[in-house]
Amino acid sequence: MNNKMKLEILSKSENESFARVVVSAFATQLDPTIEEITDIKTAVSEAVTNSIIHGYNKDDEIIHILCEIIDNEIIVEVIDYGMGIENIEQAREPLYTSKPHLERSGMGFTVMESFMDSVTINSVPGVETKVVMKK
Ligand code: ATP
Ligand code: MG
Repeated sequence: MNNKMKLEILSKSENESFARVVVSAFATQLDPTIEEITDIKTAVSEAVTNSIIHGYNKDDEIIHILCEIIDNEIIVEVIDYGMGIENIEQAREPLYTSKPHLERSGMGFTVMESFMDSVTINSVPGVETKVVMKK
């Protein structure tokens, strides 16, 4: 099966749960297990939260979420046009956070990697950050 959808949300924390529900509803076409749906929801939450907190740190910017189903796989892209990531290797490290004072644990990318089959991060500092997750 092939299908696509695109969602645009403002970078408000209220929209994080909305995005996670929309993506998981789209994913039901693949007839996933409850565990797979929970995994996708958790990964989307982490990526969208990162765009809100780190990418923009403002609540009126746009986050793009693109979903594509190709055969039996879902591809989810979360894109922001915020500050970007200078050192992607460091950002991926478990426990690394640039905002320890906000009580972040630095586990977002580690969670995405463990719940999805693959996670790719592309970022141009000051231009955009794109996280592509497949399952
Ligand atoms: P946690 O997710 O556990 O609350 P965290 O968000 O700091 O903490 P990660 O999600 O693993 O941890 O992200 C690691 C770091 O990567 C962040 O601290 C931030 O510096 C950077 N980062 C992640 N996503 C973005 C983004 N969309 N734009 C800019 N920087 C980002
Ligand atoms: Mg995070």
